[in-house]
Amino acid sequence: MTIALDSLMTWIVVAGIVVVLIVAFFVGHRTGTRRALNRVRKYARGTDPDALEAANSSRYRAALIVNPTKTDASQLASTAEAICRFEGWNPPLVIETTPEDPGEGAASRALDEEVDVVIAAGGDGTVRAVASALAQTSTPMGIVPLGTGNLLSRNLDIVLDKTEWALRIALWGRNRNIDVGTAKTTEDADPHVFTVMTGLGFDAAVMADTNSDLKSRLGWLAYVEAGSRKLVGRPSHVKVTFDDDYRISARVRSVLGGNCGKLQGGIQLLPQAVIDDGMLDVLIVSPKNLGQWVGVLASVLGRKTSKGLHTEIRKCQKVVIESGEELDVQLDGDPIGQSGYLAMEVLPSALTVRVPTVEQRKQIRAGAWPV
Ligand SMILES: [Mg+2]
Repeated sequence: MTIALDSLMTWIVVAGIVVVLIVAFFVGHRTGTRRALNRVRKYARGTDPDALEAANSSRYRAALIVNPTKTDASQLASTAEAICRFEGWNPPLVIETTPEDPGEGAASRALDEEVDVVIAAGGDGTVRAVASALAQTSTPMGIVPLGTGNLLSRNLDIVLDKTEWALRIALWGRNRNIDVGTAKTTEDADPHVFTVMTGLGFDAAVMADTNSDLKSRLGWLAYVEAGSRKLVGRPSHVKVTFDDDYRISARVRSVLGGNCGKLQGGIQLLPQAVIDDGMLDVLIVSPKNLGQWVGVLASVLGRKTSKGLHTEIRKCQKVVIESGEELDVQLDGDPIGQSGYLAMEVLPSALTVRVPTVEQRKQIRAGAWPV
């Protein structure tokens, strides 16, 4: 009986010690948590500037390169600041583009500041300029699409009409490595970077002749208007050399090199183009008259441009187009003048772009508010 009582007392003492240890652990843990929370609150109140600076320096920072002709730049900057604050990022570095610097210089400055992402807010021209600075660096590009075509955004499924979501994708989206193309209009020139398509001939003449007032009022329909005026025309004799080897000689209206092929209205101009396959898809368009243009249109709408009516596509890493006459040239929709020479080359996986994650896609489809 005495032994049993001793044994019971021993168990009670051991159980008591265990209970005391457990309580002490949780109280200590909660006290520690409370102390940590108090520290955070103190930083938030700004009572400890050194600590606040230390906390800020460890947070991410974005640069927002905004084309002020496409949106109210100060309002977009305020929205971006609010989203960055909410997401725990530092206030963004905001730089407006100018006619002298459509984005490349601004993006280079952002790289010097060692930001974590550079967001191009504008049309395809702004995206191309920012991509020129970011290509072959490890800094990702976010996109807030504000243009007429927004072709790179369309091809990467970045939301077109939800600025807050586009900003959030830029901050927390998935990094996707894509190819970029380079193009030069003389053998010795410094190459331009493009992300979607570069072309010589009809397409570039349409871009060059599109009325900018009409474009801001009618959007892509302005291209249709210019296109209809340019349809009637004489084909040009060109030599096209693929990968320094295979050469064709043809009378064409247009030669286009593309990294991706989706246009407005779901039109797939280059149905087999893949944005990260390390290849360019080169489309040759060669109608001789209006009737043959109908065939071209049917091939485009039927997604059969690869071997269509007066259209064909060839994949390559490098292409050189030589024409006996000066023809219009466009880079991602921007006319850059005339040339009888255009060389394009692909730079595989040269650019990192922030695209929506699976979860972000679900939330966007569900109509969720991003913040
Ligand atoms: Mg490709």
